[in-house]
Amino acid sequence: MGNDIKLKNRQKCPLCGSGSNKNSILYFESWELVECSECSFVFMPVVPVYEMMKEEFAWEKNFAPSKDIRMSKKIRRSIKSLIKRNKLLYLLNKFIKNGEVLDIGCGSGVKFNEIPHNYIPYGIDISKKSALEAKINFEKRGGTAICAPATDVLKEYGQSKFKGAILRSYLEHEHYPFEVLEGLRETLTSNGSIIIKVPNYASVNRKIRGKNWCGYRFPDHVNQFTPYTLEKIVIKAGYKIIKFNYLDKQITSDNMWMVAQPI
Ligand SMILES: [Zn+2]
Repeated sequence: MGNDIKLKNRQKCPLCGSGSNKNSILYFESWELVECSECSFVFMPVVPVYEMMKEEFAWEKNFAPSKDIRMSKKIRRSIKSLIKRNKLLYLLNKFIKNGEVLDIGCGSGVKFNEIPHNYIPYGIDISKKSALEAKINFEKRGGTAICAPATDVLKEYGQSKFKGAILRSYLEHEHYPFEVLEGLRETLTSNGSIIIKVPNYASVNRKIRGKNWCGYRFPDHVNQFTPYTLEKIVIKAGYKIIKFNYLDKQITSDNMWMVAQPI
C-alpha cells in the first residue's frame, strides 16, 4: 500500500452498526478483513476513499483481462459468463418484465447489450469514465447514467421511478451497502424488484483456496456476504426476499443470486 493512498475508516460494522468486537480474518498486503462478532458480517474496516477508487481502483481497470490468462481459463470464463448472463436475463424476465431498470455500479453499460430493448437502462457509477460511456450507451435506449456514489441514488433519481434494479457484482464494492439499499428502496415502484449477485463467502471454494479465492479482491471488495448476512442486510433495509433458494446460494458456487422487493 503506497503512502499516497487516502484511507477511510469503517470501524462500525456496515450491517449492525457495532463499533467494537471485530475479529481479524486475514491480511492481504496491508489490507485487513474482519468479522463482526455481533452479527458475523465480514468487511474491510479500512478502505481507500471513493476518489481513490475512481482513479486508482476503477472497476473497469481491475476487470480488464490480463494478456497472460491461459486459454483454458479463458474458455471457462466465457462459459461462466454465458451462464451468468442467462441467469440475469431469466430473473429480469421473471420478476421485472419491462420498463425502466437501474443498474447500480453500471460500469460502461455493456451489460445491457445482452438485455432486450423492452428494458430502458439507467445507471449510476463512481467511475467518471465508466459513467460517461454508460450515459452514451443508455441514452440510445431512452435511459441515462450518472457519475455519483450510489448512496446518492435517491437524491439523483427521485422516488418511485424504477421497476427494477440490478446489483450485479456491486454490493461487495460498496462502502455503505445498507444505506444504498435503503435509498434504493425509495427509488423503486411499490412492486419493483432488485436482483442481487455477490460472491458467496460461505462457498467451499473460499475455504479451499484461501487467499487465492476469486471472491477476494483487495482493496475493492470491501464487503463479503454469506447467505445469512446478505439476507439480514436486505431485510433490515426494508425488503422482503422473493427468491433465494438453495440453487441461488449453493456452497459449491462462488456466487449467489437474490431477488427482493420493498415491503
Ligand atoms: Zn455487525
